[in-house]
Amino acid sequence: MTNKTILLNKRPVGKPQLSDFKFISTEIEELIKGEVLLKTTYVSVDPYLRGRMSDAKSYVPPFELNKPITSGIVAEVVESKNKEFKKGDYVSGMLAWKEYQKSNGEGLLKIDASKAPLSTYLGVLGMTGLTAYLGLTEIGKPKRGETIVISGAAGAVGSIVGQIAKNLGCKVIGIAGTDDKVTMLKSSLRFDAAINYNTTKNMAEAIKEVAPNGVDIYFDNVGGPISDAVLFNINKFARIIICGAISIYNNTELPQSISVQPFLVKNSALMQGFIVSNYAEKFPEAIQQLSKWLAAGKITYAETVVQGFDKIPQTFLDLFDGKNSGKMLIKI
Ligand code: NAP
Repeated sequence: MTNKTILLNKRPVGKPQLSDFKFISTEIEELIKGEVLLKTTYVSVDPYLRGRMSDAKSYVPPFELNKPITSGIVAEVVESKNKEFKKGDYVSGMLAWKEYQKSNGEGLLKIDASKAPLSTYLGVLGMTGLTAYLGLTEIGKPKRGETIVISGAAGAVGSIVGQIAKNLGCKVIGIAGTDDKVTMLKSSLRFDAAINYNTTKNMAEAIKEVAPNGVDIYFDNVGGPISDAVLFNINKFARIIICGAISIYNNTELPQSISVQPFLVKNSALMQGFIVSNYAEKFPEAIQQLSKWLAAGKITYAETVVQGFDKIPQTFLDLFDGKNSGKMLIKI
C-alpha cells in the first residue's frame, strides 16, 4: 500500500508558499510487536507551525528539511500489535502529515467518539481549549465585572477565550477581520461587542467606545498595531496575556511597534508570554471544566473543516488570510 506524506521542502521566507511543501509516496512497513498502524482522520493546522518551519531558536525545535511536518492529529487504529490499543480505537497525538503511519503508542491519547465529536479533541477539548482556558485563568485571572479584549477573537483560541470569560462574568470584546466574524461573535458566541479591524480607521478610539471603563484583561493572539491600540485603553493592574502574534509571524524585518514600557509602568500592568505546555499539570482540571461547559451548552465551538489530504498545505496557508472561523481542520 502506498501512502502520501507531506515534507517541509523549503524554509518559508515571509508568507509561506505551496512550494515550501513537498508530497511524496512511501510504502507502509510491516508492524512489529508493540506497534499500531494509524489512519489519519483529522489534521489540525495551527499558526505556531509557521515558527517551526523557520530555524530560529524557539521553545520547540524547528522542523527538519525533507522530513514530514507534524501537528495535532486524530487517527483511527486500523491494525494493532500493541496491547494498549485495539483496531477501531481513535487516538490523538502529535503525528506526521501522512495518510497512514506506524506508532509505538508513545504520546498517543485514546479518545472517545461517543463522548464528543472526534474533531473537538483537536479544538475545544484539545490544545486550543487548553490554551484558551489556562492562558485566561492562570495569567488573566478574570474577575466578575471586568472587561476583556481578545484579538484573533473569531479564531480557534479566541472564540473559546471569549465564551469562558462570559461564563466567568466578564464583559467581552472581540477583534476580528471580517463583518461576518463580528456578527458570529456577537450572535452565536455571546460577545458583548466586536470590532472589524480591517474596516476600522482608529482602533484605539473604537475600543474606547465599546470599553468606556477601560480594559482589565487583553488576550493577545495577533500582536502588531491591533495590540498597540489596546494598550491605550488598559486599566490599572491590567493583565495582558501574550498568547501569539500572528500578524508578525511572516515578517522578514523587525516589526515597528510602540514601546510598551510606559503603558505598563503607568498602569502597574502585567504583560506575560504564555506557552500552553508550561501548564501540563493543569491539563486534566482544564479539560474537566471545558467538558462540563461543553455538555451544559455553556461553550459552543466553531470549526472550518476542509476535505482531503492534498488540501493540508493550502489550508495551513489560509490561516494567514483569515479564511477560518473557529478551529481550522482538514478531514481526511
Ligand atoms: P486562529 O486564530 O484560528 O487562526 C488564525 C487567525 O488569525 C485567522 O483566522 C485571522 O483571523 C487571524 N489573522 C491572520 N493574519 C492576521 C493579521 N495579520 N492580523 C490580525 N489577525 C490575523 O489560530 P489559533 O490556533 O486560534 O491561534 C491564535 C494565536 O494563538 C496564534 O497567534 C497562535 O500562534 C497562538 N497560540 C499560542 C499557543 C501558546 O501556547 N502560546 C497555543 C495555541 C495558539 P482574522 O480574519 O480575524 O484576521
